[in-house]
Amino acid sequence: MTIYLDNNATTALAPEVREAMFPCLFGEFANPSSPHSGGMAARRAVGEARGQVAGLIGARPAEILFTGSATEATHTAILGSLRALEERDPRRCHLVTTAVEHPATLMLFADLRDRGWRVTVLPVNGAGVPSLVDLAAAVTPETALVSMMWANNETGVLMPVGAAAAIARQNGALFHSDAVQAAGRVPVEVAGVDFLTLSAHKMHGPKGIGALYIRKGAPFLPLIHGHQERGRRGGTENVPAIVGFGAAARLAGAALSGAGAVAGLRDRLERGILARWPGARVNGASPAGVPAARLPNTSSIRFADPQGRPVDAEELLTRLDRAGIAVSMGAACASGGNEPSHVLTAMGLSPAQAAGSLRFSLSRYSTASEVDAVLGELPALHARLAA
Ligand code: PLP
Repeated sequence: MTIYLDNNATTALAPEVREAMFPCLFGEFANPSSPHSGGMAARRAVGEARGQVAGLIGARPAEILFTGSATEATHTAILGSLRALEERDPRRCHLVTTAVEHPATLMLFADLRDRGWRVTVLPVNGAGVPSLVDLAAAVTPETALVSMMWANNETGVLMPVGAAAAIARQNGALFHSDAVQAAGRVPVEVAGVDFLTLSAHKMHGPKGIGALYIRKGAPFLPLIHGHQERGRRGGTENVPAIVGFGAAARLAGAALSGAGAVAGLRDRLERGILARWPGARVNGASPAGVPAARLPNTSSIRFADPQGRPVDAEELLTRLDRAGIAVSMGAACASGGNEPSHVLTAMGLSPAQAAGSLRFSLSRYSTASEVDAVLGELPALHARLAA
């Protein structure tokens, strides 16, 4: 049995989610646009799921648009709003984001820069947090949109989204947040935000389904034409996945009260690693070692050998994998590439320190005995690396 501590990459489908999806995969397969009773039932199921996803983030159901992924939701928010804004307010030709965003955002911003937009990428401090003073200095009446993630996927560090959204609003700029890692792990409320990205597969829902919150009245033009999703995204709805997303959002909302238990396990793991591995440090902490405000489930740790040199985390990962423990090096999509994490290097780590870091990400299904089993592997691993 694998001990799965890679829940920021993706999560296991909750049994209740599987149960909810099952009928839509088989008997209840009708198209929600069909006029007959099967179609009406599918439409009702999609509507109920929309309400459940909206409920998780304090939105109205009509403000939720289902997409094929979080990546698509972010592209839809940014490109759809910029299209609308180009007509309304063409002098707004400046965009702001942070250096630690997911590639779903950063690669899009790089493309927009290539296509003539002026782009400011805010740096972060050693704990991985951008400065609001820098943001306030960057945002001007020319700024069209600010995009800042709610929580970082590699370190779990929470961003000052509320204050950042207020700065954007004071300057008439739109504000988007990628809340993929935060939603269902910490309370997320859309008040003050124009666009917000969600993904089902990070909260024990199915893969291949995302959602975008679009504030009522926010400028937006569709990228994919069609009558579905109130004309905002064409294409027949993925009913089983949408229903699964709804069930996952309902369960995640109910489980928020248990976040303290997840944090307790994460802290037990973190303290245990630091005690067993001399020279190990938490990424996303102040120089004094005080962790920044983080998601309850995430710990990014950099490991050093007895001489204080960064270890090769890939080797650690492989050895843990052989012991049946799944963790990751930074983002799942970046793992496998040779580039050191852009998040950790933006926080001031050297490329070697970044390549010597592992991410442990727990879920509400993680247990103390799993944490203890991981800790039990560490002394032997340390001794082997020391040798
Ligand atoms: N944003 C963040 C912060 C993520 O962690 C991820 C997935 O790793 C994504 C966006 C992309 O999500 P999806 O796979 O649903 O496109």
